[in-house]
Formats: sequence, C-alpha cells, structure tokens
Amino acid sequence: MIYTQRGDKVRLDKISTEPPKGVTKQSVQKRFDALGAELFALQDSLWGAKTNGVLVVLQGRDSAGKDGTIKHVAGYLNPRGVHVTSFGVPSAEESRHDFLWRVHRHAPGRGEFAIFNRSHYEDVLAVRVHGLAPKKLWKARYGHIRDFEQLLSEEGTIVLKYFLHISRKEQKERLLERERDPLAAWKVNVNDWNERERWDEYTQAYEDAISKTAAAHAPWTVVPADAKWYRNLVVAESIVAALREHRKEWDRALDAMARKARAAVAAYRAKKS
Ligand code: AMP
Ligand code: MG
Repeated sequence: MIYTQRGDKVRLDKISTEPPKGVTKQSVQKRFDALGAELFALQDSLWGAKTNGVLVVLQGRDSAGKDGTIKHVAGYLNPRGVHVTSFGVPSAEESRHDFLWRVHRHAPGRGEFAIFNRSHYEDVLAVRVHGLAPKKLWKARYGHIRDFEQLLSEEGTIVLKYFLHISRKEQKERLLERERDPLAAWKVNVNDWNERERWDEYTQAYEDAISKTAAAHAPWTVVPADAKWYRNLVVAESIVAALREHRKEWDRALDAMARKARAAVAAYRAKKS
C-alpha cells in the first residue's frame, strides 16, 4: 500500500502482512535479480549525473527486518555511493539539540544513496509512545518533518519511506527464534519484549506518522513483511520504480558530460598534431 497524500486514512490492521496468494519465493527470484541489476545501473547514472540524492527511510517494529532489507536490497548497490545510518536512543549531545540535528547531516549528497535504519520518525514514535517529550513538542514535529522532507526534495533528494509491516505473531516467532539461534542470540534484547507490550500504541503512532507526513515527493509504502523475500521484493521494486523516472534526465546529463569530455580530448589531440 502506497501513501502519497497527507491526511490519507491509514489502517494498518486492514493491510496484510503476508505476500499475495499465489506469489512464491521461487516465482519472484528472477524478478528480484533483474531488479538488482537495474538498481545497480540506476545508481551508476545517479552517481555520474550528480543531480539527485536518494534517501531511503526504513521504519518498523523490532525484528521487522530493517537490517535484512539493507543487506539484501542495498547489497546490489556499489558501496562507494551508499551510507547506512542507524538511529538509536539519542546520545547526551544529541539530546541537547533539536530532533533533526543528528539526522540532517546524514542526508545524502547529490549522487549518493543514504539509508536510514530508523530515523527522525522515532521522535514521533518511541518518543510519543514513551512520553519522552511533552505532547505539544512531539505534535509539532509532524509539521517539522513535512518541511524537512520538502526541503530535501526541493534541493534534489528523492525521499522514499518504508514501514515494514509484520504481524504480532510473526514478531513473536522471530524474537523466540533469535533467542534459540546461537548465532543470533547476541541480538536478543529484553527491550524488544517491552516494546511489544505497547503494540497498539505503536500502531496508532505509526498510522498517524504515515498519514501526517505522506506526500507525493516523500511517499510512504507499507510493506507486507512477514515473508522476508516478499518484503525485499517490494522495497526493491519501489526504489527502482522511483529512480527509473529520473533515468532519462540523468542520461541526458551524462551525455552532455560525455560530449564535453570528448571535445576536450579532441582539442588536446588537435593541439598535439
Ligand atoms: P534497535 O534499532 O533495535 O537497535 O533499537 C534502537 C532503539 O532506539 C529503539 O528502541 C528505538 O525506539 C530507540 N530510539 C531511536 N531513536 C530514538 C529517539 N529519537 N528517541 C528515543 N528512542 C529512540
Ligand atoms: Mg531492536
């Protein structure tokens, strides 16, 4: 489900967390590989043209698959042009500043990809659910977020926001599996169980965040995330579709650069001969 309009009603309990019937992992493998190749090529044009940056915001509950999405989708990108930033509990210094202070410096430069594992949205999610700031303060943040993302967009950043939507049951299975798996048990965090108890409050906070900040220039996609392969496919599909719209423009910029560079080389040769 894609939200591009501020004020659109968001009902997470009405959106499936599972892949559509009939779609299987095997049936999409080829598609996913093709998307990966296209993503790599698009990133190369983005990097060369230096007219746009890309900001991918990943939000979701604990174990929703933010790290897995980064591994699988960003795995197709050339690391030269990608920065991943994880936003945890603010440090003492970060807490002394406005909530966007720590975020803005990680926004992508032209040519770059920035991927946020959690983001400025925590300041209307965790902060709201746990009452870490007065209501008046966090309520005003939706407007600040809209303005911030509009600024980024107008200055050339393609902003794409994803909510990885898992069911309560799937989360429980993942947390228990993590605890059993000797290679993953280091990730066990009692806080995840604490957060889980506030499931409905987070649902409300997410619905509001999505509804209040969805825009054509900064769309939200609610990604069915109970199946990891489907989650990866939806995110890859969405990023590629957004970048594809810019391909012609980037290729024109690259052509102009190539013409100029060739002319310079030709002039150099003419002088030599
Ligand atoms: P994890 O992503 O599992 O490593 O956990 C990071 C934790 O930091 C989560 O529990 C977030 O809710 C929390 N967090 C991130 N940003 C903020 C913020 N601005 N204020 C309070 N808690 C935050
Ligand atoms: Mg966690």
